[in-house]
Parts: sequence; C-alpha cells; structure tokens
Amino acid sequence: LDKAYSMMIRSRIPGGKITAEQYLEHDRLAMELGNRTLRITTRQSFQLHGVLKNDLPTVIRRINEVLLSTLAACGDVERNVLSCPAPIRDDIRDRMQADADLFASHFAPRTNSYWELWLDGEKIDNPLLPQPRPTLIPTPADTEVEPIYGRHYLPRKFKTAFSLPFDNCTDVYANDLGFLAVIEAGQLVGYNVLVGGGLGTTPSNKNTFPHLGKDLCFVTREGVLEIGEAVIKAYRDLGNRADRKRARIKYLVADLGIDAFRSKVEEYLGHPTEPPRPNPVTGVDDHMGWHEQGDGKLFLGIPIENGRVRDVGALRLATALRTLFQTYKMPARLTCQQSILLCDLDPAWRDEINQLLADHGVARVETISTVRRWAMACPAMPTCGLAVTESERVLPRLLDQLEQRLAELGLADEVFTVRMTGCPNGCARPYNADIGLVGRSAGKAKPGDEGPVAGTYTLFLGGSLVGHRLASLYKDYVPFDRLVDELTPIFARFKTDRQPNETFGDFCDRLGVERLAAIVAEAEAN
Ligand code: SF4
Repeated sequence: LDKAYSMMIRSRIPGGKITAEQYLEHDRLAMELGNRTLRITTRQSFQLHGVLKNDLPTVIRRINEVLLSTLAACGDVERNVLSCPAPIRDDIRDRMQADADLFASHFAPRTNSYWELWLDGEKIDNPLLPQPRPTLIPTPADTEVEPIYGRHYLPRKFKTAFSLPFDNCTDVYANDLGFLAVIEAGQLVGYNVLVGGGLGTTPSNKNTFPHLGKDLCFVTREGVLEIGEAVIKAYRDLGNRADRKRARIKYLVADLGIDAFRSKVEEYLGHPTEPPRPNPVTGVDDHMGWHEQGDGKLFLGIPIENGRVRDVGALRLATALRTLFQTYKMPARLTCQQSILLCDLDPAWRDEINQLLADHGVARVETISTVRRWAMACPAMPTCGLAVTESERVLPRLLDQLEQRLAELGLADEVFTVRMTGCPNGCARPYNADIGLVGRSAGKAKPGDEGPVAGTYTLFLGGSLVGHRLASLYKDYVPFDRLVDELTPIFARFKTDRQPNETFGDFCDRLGVERLAAIVAEAEAN
C-alpha cells in the first residue's frame, strides 16, 4: 500500500473575482475531496486542505473546468495578483482591476507541461491564462516557451499587488512589486511602482529580514507590463540562486540599494524611469457590511474569521454561503483580510439575506468586536508543515481575552491590527501590523488543557493600520498565556498619553520598544 499523502491545493484568482459557480465548485470539492472546509487566503485565493494525492488530477481538472486555475498559484513565478476587491462602479477601480487582470495574464507561465501533466494535454480556454502576447523586452535569457521566466524560472516566488492610496486593503508595501494608483483630477493617471516588499524571515539567519517595498518610479497605465517585465527580468538574472533563504527580490534591492537597482531596471527598459509622484497611503477599508455599488446594486462584506469557511456548532457558515450562491447566483470577491464580498445584490434581497445569515449563526459585522474584525491568523497547525506552533486555532481564544481587557480600559472601539502566524514566514503579514505575533516555539500540554496547545511568540509592536511601517521586535519567546498581560499596561498608557488621532501602532512606534518595556516593568513592580 502507498502512503496516503494529503495535499493543499491553492487556486489562482486574480483580484479575488469569482462567479457563483466557481464558488460552488470549490465548496463541492472541499466537501467531497477535501477536509470539509474552504479557506480564503490573504492573497484573495481559495485553499483546499486535506486533498489525497490520488485525487489531485480530479480536483485540478474541476477547478479548470469552471475557468479558474491552479497554474502559478504556487511556485517560483508571479503568484496571484492582488487588486482592491470592492465592486464599486467607478472608473478608477474598474481600470485598476483591468490592469491587474492584464498583468496576471501576461505574467502567467506559458509552459504546456501543466496541461500535459494534469489535463491530458487539453488546454481549456480561459481568458485569465496567458494570452499569446510577445515579450516586450527581449533578452538573451528568454526562451521561446518562457520569454519572461527563461529556462530556470525565478529565484523564488514573486508577488504583485495593485492598490489605492486611500484604501490600501491589498497591503501593497508587503509585495515584491506594488502598483500604487496615482489619481490626479479624479483620473487614474498611472502608478507609483514599489519594489522589494516581503515579510518572511529566518530568525537563525541574521541576513534575512522583513522589508517593505521601496519607491522605484512612476509609470502610466500603458507602462505597467513593460516595467513589470524589466523588474522581473532583473530579478530573474541578478537574484540570489545560491541561497534560497536570500533569494527573494527584497534582498537584491537591499543589497544593491534602490538607486542601483533602479539603474539595472533602466538597463532592461532601455530608457530612464520617471520619478515617483507624491502619493502617500492614507487609509484602508475592509469593505465589510452593506454598501452601494453605484449602479443601483448592493454588495455585502461578510467577515470570515481567519478565512475558514465551515460548519461548526451553531455557526453554519459553509451552508449559509452555499445557499446564498445557489439562490441568488451572484458573483463574489475575496479580500486580502480573508473575507468575502457578495456582489451585484438587488436591494430587495437585503432583508432575506440578513435573515438567512442570522438563521445560520453568521454574525453581522456590526456585532463583531473591532479587535476581532481587524485580526487575522495563518493556518499553521495542523495543515502547515512549517508551523512551529499554533495560530488559527488559538487566535480566537486570545481575542476573547483581548476583547475583555480592551472593554475594561474603554478601548473597545479602537481600530488596530492583530496578526498571528505559526512561524516566521509571516503569511498573515504580522511584521507591519500594529501588533504582530510570530510563532517561536511549540507549547507543551499541561494537565487539564483542552484544545490546541499554543507555544511562545515573538511580539512585534508599532506597525501601522495602513501597512506602510514595519513593527519593531518588542519581546521574544512570550508565552501565549502571557500575551494579554504583557500588552495591558501599554494599552493603559496609550489611553492616557496618546496624541490627538494617534493610532496604537503610531503610539508604540513613537515611544519605542525600550520605553514600552519600561512601562510594563513599572506596572508589574506596582
Ligand atoms: Fe505556515 Fe508559517 Fe505560513 Fe503560518 S506563517 S501558514 S505556519 S508557513
């Protein structure tokens, strides 16, 4: 007998846009061939967990038959391209989404081996897969089949996001390549291009670190594919292929410096770049609750704790969403906060949709605490082989404690991000959160413990809600049961000493980790 290997399968869904049938097919696959849960990822995709090796061809074929794909959802290529999912009908969002779709199509691998391996050579016609467009910047390393990736593909994975300065819901600074919309006189005139974001790190290797994207240049909409090719080809040819831990583009940018990296990119372009335009990021929106789309229809953002769609106890979220998609057949969009937006809803359906969700125990966003609404965790144990400790399964318990403590301090309405991961790879983007919790060591079960056992965490403080600042390492190896007590004196001092409009992350950043540690020590001494 062969071993019963189980796999995770991730779909590639540019901008998180799905039809009702695409949702329902993923739901059926999760129920029939997965672990009966569907997970929305931080990159606007679905993950199916617990798929047996023998079922891989069936699952991949069925995903392709509903015109999605798994091609380039993983691997050392351009991954799922992010874009603001809000289905608000305005020229800026529509054009940015179109640019993101074009980018995703242009940079999808062009190999036929995916079809030969998984689909018996049958190529299913899918507009989001690579269209027969020539490469824009021919180079010696190009190959006929893969003009962008060449013979050896990229040194490591590559992630791209499109974002808006007033709504950075795709966390553009955390991506290898970012396109931050430049809006002038109400028009999308182009993008400031950011390069070198990436959050994964290896604590034992001091040459690895989280890094936010740096300003590279400005491009018009017409220049998006060309600058993408220049950056990706520079990374392909100059990136570190000897040490996989230092293979991400952020290390190339950090080692060369942004000015020297820009010069390399200009060599590929064959012309100088235009300087970035003044364009600060000012806000972020999770798009939860009911909203007008601007075309007479509504959309509804349903918060999904840690992106996990399932039926458990009184919460029958999987059944509720299945029923909604079967009944109303609306399209939907997945968000980078692991939640879902139901789109194109007739205002007449609003009350019955609210009732259906309530009947299935799905909480309205208005009834969820602010801290829970803005928190997220990576899957970690038991499905991620890299996890050193728990994340998704214990964050709800931490949030129960935090909700109580914040309410006691009168801070229940304060908006800040808490992000937890089960290892330093940082899949839930903890390093630029207001509070980042990064799994450090496994926990040991004590007599009387119930449920998953959490270990210790590295506690980071001082990132920002809008994602433009890295948090600082505050304390290492903090036991899970100690986290809320460690944070409480800092919350209390924030309440009394904050400056007007100062967020929790801004406050922690202003004071610095040494003063924060002194505040905690003083509180404990009293
Ligand atoms: Fe797995 Fe680590 Fe990513 Fe969490 S952060 S999903 S534990 S690799």
